[in-house]
Amino acid sequence: MKITIVYDNCTVRAGLKTGWGFSALIETDNATPLLFDTGADGATLLYNMKQLGIDPSRIGAIVISHAHGDHTGGLYNILDINKHAELYVPASSVVRLPGRKVIQANRPVQISETVFSTGELQGIEQSLAVKTTKGIVVVAGCSHPGVGVILNAASDYGKVYGIIGGLHGFRDFSRLYGLSLICPCHCTQYKSELRRLFPEQYIACGAGLELKL
Ligand SMILES: [Zn+2]
Ligand SMILES: [Zn+2]
Repeated sequence: MKITIVYDNCTVRAGLKTGWGFSALIETDNATPLLFDTGADGATLLYNMKQLGIDPSRIGAIVISHAHGDHTGGLYNILDINKHAELYVPASSVVRLPGRKVIQANRPVQISETVFSTGELQGIEQSLAVKTTKGIVVVAGCSHPGVGVILNAASDYGKVYGIIGGLHGFRDFSRLYGLSLICPCHCTQYKSELRRLFPEQYIACGAGLELKL
């Protein structure tokens, strides 16, 4: 699978805009591209997509991790362009879009051959578990349910290889021992501690980052 960070508080590539929020494109074999979260600002999201050569009309599924504005802000900008993508929202979000398939994930759900949602956890947020040749890669928005809760849910699909996304105020660092990839994005407060504790596993996140796993 290939994951491209489209929107983040930071950038790792010249020519892209930053903004408080998160969005990532996930491309896997035998499935249309999936957009996970949409950042805070639609214009910034579309700008970065254009710079990265991502065509919004090709997206087959949009997953919203949770109903905070820094993850949903660009949603309607994408829906305006893309009339067919399926939308996966947490069970507590009420979204009615006539003519469009909307899945309210109140339990784990398979999105494509290798991509699964944990379903809404702790009444707020869903994360992705992506099957790769190296193991399960977790993609998280803000990790409001707690990183441990998310990793437990994702491990139902296999051994967790790594985590990419916002980790918020997470500091139970021992919970990450055994992971091979730690890519803290967006709202993560303890990035420097994570980098110091996991120098081999740490990858700096930012808009423009592309990881093939
Ligand atoms: Zn949030
Ligand atoms: Zn957030």
